[in-house]
Parts: sequence; C-alpha cells; structure tokens
Amino acid sequence: MIETAREFLTQINNLPSLENKLKTSDHALFVLHDQLNLDVFPKELLDQKPLLVFVESLKYATVIPHHKQKLVYILSAQRHFAIACHNQGFTVLNLFTQGFHADAIAEFLEKYPQINLTYMQPSEWDTRAQMTALADKFGDRVTLIPNNFFIADADKFKSKIKKGYRLENFYRELRKQTGYLMADGKPLGGIWNYDKENRKSLPKNVSIPKIPVIEPDVITQEVIELVKNYLPDNFGRLDQFGYAVTRDCALELAQAFITTRLANFGAYEDAIKVGEPFLFHSVLSPYLNNGLLLPQEICEMAIAAFEQKLAPLNSVEGFVRQILGWREYIHVYYEAQMPQARESNYFEFTNDLPQLYWNANTDLLCLKDAVTHVLNHGYSHHIQRLMVLSNFSNLTNTDPRQLNHWFWLAYIDAYEWVELPNVIGMSTFADGGILASKPYISGGSYINKMSNCCSQCKYDVKQKTGSCACPFNYLYWNFVDQHRDSFAENGRVSLMTNVYEKKTEDEKLAIKESSIHFIVNLDRG
Ligand code: SF4
Repeated sequence: MIETAREFLTQINNLPSLENKLKTSDHALFVLHDQLNLDVFPKELLDQKPLLVFVESLKYATVIPHHKQKLVYILSAQRHFAIACHNQGFTVLNLFTQGFHADAIAEFLEKYPQINLTYMQPSEWDTRAQMTALADKFGDRVTLIPNNFFIADADKFKSKIKKGYRLENFYRELRKQTGYLMADGKPLGGIWNYDKENRKSLPKNVSIPKIPVIEPDVITQEVIELVKNYLPDNFGRLDQFGYAVTRDCALELAQAFITTRLANFGAYEDAIKVGEPFLFHSVLSPYLNNGLLLPQEICEMAIAAFEQKLAPLNSVEGFVRQILGWREYIHVYYEAQMPQARESNYFEFTNDLPQLYWNANTDLLCLKDAVTHVLNHGYSHHIQRLMVLSNFSNLTNTDPRQLNHWFWLAYIDAYEWVELPNVIGMSTFADGGILASKPYISGGSYINKMSNCCSQCKYDVKQKTGSCACPFNYLYWNFVDQHRDSFAENGRVSLMTNVYEKKTEDEKLAIKESSIHFIVNLDRG
C-alpha cells in the first residue's frame, strides 16, 4: 500500500517534526474523510495547532464495495486535504489500517498515552457507533464535538419529522432562518416554490455546456493505482475519473456551474437526454458531501447570481431548495429514523436487484443510459435516479434494501445519511410514508415526455401490453393493482386505482400476463 502513497508521503514529509510532535503533543484532532474543511471546526481548537490525524481504512473501503471512482475520490480528496493542512503549518499524521477508522485511532491512543483526542460527530451511523465505543473505552481522553457541516439543527427538527413534518414546511422555516431569497419576511417573487416552471423537457436546440474535467495529478494517480491493484473487481470504471479533489478546484467547478448552467438548471432539472449524464445539474454533491464545499456558500453563490441577473428566480430557488430544503431535510430524517430505517420494507418485496443495475445489459434504453452513466462516472442526475432507476426497482417488486445498498456503493456522492432517506423514504416508500406520501412510480409516457429515450428504444412506449410494449406501462398498472389496498386511503394514489378499475377485464388480464412474464424473466443473477 505504501508504494501507492509515495508522492503523498513525500508531500507531508514531516518526520522530524512529527516525531517531535508525537513526543510532546498532548492534543490531536481526528479529521474524517467527509469532514474536509477546517472552517467548520472550532477556531479555539485549531489555534492550539493540534496534531491532525487522518485514517485510511481498508475495512471502510471494502465492507461496502464502493464504485472505484468513489474510492479514488474519497481517498485522493483526503490526501490533498492533509497536504493542504500540512502546508498551513499543521503537523499531520496519516494512519493506514486494515480495520475501521476507530481501530486505527484506538491503536494511536494506546501508543501515545499522553495525547488526548477530539473528533467531530461522524455523519454515518456505523462510523459514529465505532467512535462512540472508542470514546467509552478511553473516557476523558476523547472529546466529541458536534457535526457542523449542516445548516439545520437536527435535534430541533427530529421529533417533528417523526410526526410527519413535511419538506415544504421545513424548507420555509429554513428560508426564514437563513433569510435566503426572502424580502421583508416574505419569499422573493411572492411564492415559495417554482416547481411548476421547472418540469420542462429539453428542446432539441438547447446546447449543453460541458463540465470541466479535472485531470488526475500525481497524488490522484497514486490512488488510482492503489484502487486498481487492491480492488480491481469493485463496481464501475476508473478511466474517466475527472472530479475535483481540492477545495480550490471544487470552487472553480461551482463557479463554472453558476456561470454556465444555473440559468437553465430549473427549467430542465427533470429532463433526461440519452448520453448526457450531467445536463444542467451542478454535480457539486460530491464536494458538498465531504466538506470541500459548504452548503451555505453554494446557496449564497446561486443567490448572488440571481442578484446579478445571471440566472432567473425559478432556477435559483429550485437549486437553493435542493440544498437548503431537500439536503437538510433528509439529513434530519436520517438522524430521526436510524437505525430502524435500514430494515424498512413496507411492501415486503423480496426480489433481488436485477443484474442490469450492475452491467447496464438491457434493451430498456432509459435504464441502460442511466446505469451506463453510473458505471462511467459514479453519477447520474437525480431524475434518472428517481424516475428510472428507483421507479423500475419499485415496479419489479425489488427489495428496497438491495436498491439502497446499490445506491450507497454506486454513487460518488452517496454516504448513508444522504442516500438512505432518498431510497427508503422518498423513492420506494419503504418507510410506509414517513417521508413521502406515495411511492415513486410512473409509466413510460412520463419518461417519454421528459426524455428523448423512447424514440430510440427497442420497446414501443405507445403500446400498453405485449412483448413489444414499454415494460414501464404494464408494470405500472400491475403495481397499482397489487397495492390497491395499501393505497385505498391515499388520495394521491386512489385516483390511479380508480382509473385501473375502469379498465376492461381483458385489459387487466393483458397487464397481468405481460407483467408476470416480464418479472419472471428478468435476470436477477
Ligand atoms: Fe424506457 Fe419504455 Fe421509453 Fe424504452 S420505451 S426508453 S423502456 S420508458
């Protein structure tokens, strides 16, 4: 492993000062791979120039077999951050461990009994539990500080969300709290939400700006070699890695989004175009979720763009709502619903995740396109995640826990706190309606409306049943039929059950036969 960290170790080469610091230091700060921003740590703590401890955990990298690019991103960003801290005058200790982060920290504390350690609350449940056990073992020597990477105080909202506090109310409260897009206590433009303007399909003549690709430097190349050598069978391709791994680079990408894509983000945020993984999406989530960028600064950059007339209100409000509303809301949901949320399976689906999620081997073009993006980049934009990947999983009665596992490992921006609520709560209804009022399901006609997939697909989106028909069409009605009892009380879905009931018996039979044939023959490995 050391040979794939040579340049990195050279750049943090501070052996004499490190040895001295380890002998004389009485305080260390453990910085996790998703807490890469010293601005978030207490100033009085940093002013004491504690020893900064980083851990490269093999077990974290293997217990969930993450996408290769995700592992490169996490580790390279951490190494670059460690170098940046070193260059700011901090002494940096980089620990390698076959175990989890907490195992390395425990060894460190045993070896240096005079050193006390501070750590920030980990966002992910398992790392948090491991660090809590460590803190119990070492008692006063370990100090926990709150996680400051989020805008909303999770403790304030947790109990409300358990009782069904919906996103819209939460979002309005945070708009008032931050003052974002507010004037005299009222939402700018007179309404809170511009969703109605933000569901356009993509016209043929709209050109899509390219996202700058960041060439891997020597540090990143070392990590690429490491992942290639040690985890060659993990999901995904490595050859197209082009993510930023430093804050400066991430800020450049944020600025590029603001100037070239934000203006069209709102209108086309629900659109899909074959071969285009990013469209007008910001693709800033990897940087927000490991701390390279902070949610406040990104919201404020977008609001400044509106004030400078670089982007219309519908786009800016839609973007701010994604970060200030949705991202913060699901973080509170995670805090409120863990750990039981992990096992949620409201519909008691037991089918395995179809093989196509692993290899993109399918004739359903909308799915092939979405999975291909994930294989190539560890990324597809949110509407492909929801309208295609999650929708298909629901319609084929797939165990939501398997879908959850796949999203967790497959996406560059997926940490459990962010992907679990999206999958278990939002898209699959596996929590029975705590987060969403219905499961996300749709037939082929909506995918056709929002994308250019269907015109190029082997299946016919206009046919409702039979071997040539778009499978989303009959699977949708099959789902409505299967779950009509669950939906009887739900106004949003009972409308669909009523439509289903009006179909002829022959139509219902054809739906059933097509669905059974498709589901039984779906390759689930
Ligand atoms: Fe997807 Fe159906 Fe459209 Fe094909 S026809 S791209 S399967 S929605």
